[in-house]
Amino acid sequence: MDIKDHIGEIRAEFPILKRTMSDHPLVYLDNCATTLKPRSVIDTVVHYYTYLGANAHRGDYEMSAQVDFAYEGARKLTKDFIHAAKKEEIVFTSGTTESLNILAMSITNTWLQEGDVVLSTVAEHASSVLPWLEAGESKGIKVEYIPLDEKGRITVENFKKALHPKVKVVCFAQVSNVLGYEAPVKEIVKIAHENGIKVVVDGAQSIAHLPVDVQDLDVDFFCFSAHKMCGPTGIGVLYGKLEYLDALSPIYFGGESNARFSKCGKLKLKKTPFKYESGTQPIEGALGMAAAMKFVDKIGKENVHRYELELKHYFLEKIKDVDNVKVYNADAKSGIITFNVYDKGELIFPQDVASFLNTKGIAVRSGEHCAKLLGEVLGVPGTCRASVYFYNTFEEIDKFVLALKEASFETC
Ligand code: PLP
Repeated sequence: MDIKDHIGEIRAEFPILKRTMSDHPLVYLDNCATTLKPRSVIDTVVHYYTYLGANAHRGDYEMSAQVDFAYEGARKLTKDFIHAAKKEEIVFTSGTTESLNILAMSITNTWLQEGDVVLSTVAEHASSVLPWLEAGESKGIKVEYIPLDEKGRITVENFKKALHPKVKVVCFAQVSNVLGYEAPVKEIVKIAHENGIKVVVDGAQSIAHLPVDVQDLDVDFFCFSAHKMCGPTGIGVLYGKLEYLDALSPIYFGGESNARFSKCGKLKLKKTPFKYESGTQPIEGALGMAAAMKFVDKIGKENVHRYELELKHYFLEKIKDVDNVKVYNADAKSGIITFNVYDKGELIFPQDVASFLNTKGIAVRSGEHCAKLLGEVLGVPGTCRASVYFYNTFEEIDKFVLALKEASFETC
């Protein structure tokens, strides 16, 4: 499908695109932060509350069996969406952050010893670094950082240089949320496995935009959030190879995760994935996430990715003669545009630029984008970030470029 030929129909599926912001038609370019929701996802969530209502895996009546069927159906769909080998490898969580926290705590408790090292990079989101720092502190586990190249990319060469016998885990994003570069996941996984290192991939910024095949990538763990790909907030996925999820322990315990416990303290946990889903889950979220996957699949992630790059190249072409705008990641093969605006050589504070764009109805993100260490590499205290998705248009890019041309005059 060529998205350009269907953009009107696609946009009609998103009720929120009819709203205005600052009295202008909304130009939503903050898709890295979260994406907008199509009618089918909204309807699925409403349908659960209107017609299904029961808890999952608890009742012995018809309504509850219908919920179980729909909830486990969502798990099966998720398995297919990322091409996992088994549906038991899909654990529902509240999102990427929770998935990464569960892994950091559990891997540290079960597999790591004092002096062991977890490799990260300075481009990682705080949700990918802080859990390891926190989990490892009391046990003497260190986090070390793979040096990035001059553009802020993770490379195989630098990964190899960072290796030593104490490295037991590497955790990094498939696509950086600040610069939009895609990491060489497959190559890193191969080398990591040759060295007995487990690989945790943060898929928060790749899941919505790239076809993801966890078996082909051979990652040990893969985490993502539904809200970054048209799904509801509060639901996400922790994928893990079954043997590893079986070997690790959950960090939460409760009603749904135990099969039996006795007064003498003996506890028998349920099998994976249920041992990780200890309380009532966001059931409507799981169903809404499945609806989002169907929606994105119908458009096709290859088409999404191609269209995002077309939008980005269109932007770069239009902005190339505008010398007050500096783009940091023109060559990143994603729809993420990281930039700053200058006025007579002076950096305009990114938040001022974002506030100015707001007055034109344009939503972008400004600041450090939760990757607080990356500023050292870019040499600026923050940036603006525009991120496109398949419902954005070339006309919106025109408005964005026009606003940026005005930005340096209006914000000073
Ligand atoms: N990792 C990356 C690369 C992200 O971009 C984000 C969110 O922006 C997260 C992790 C955290 O995702 P969530 O807030 O959905 O848990």
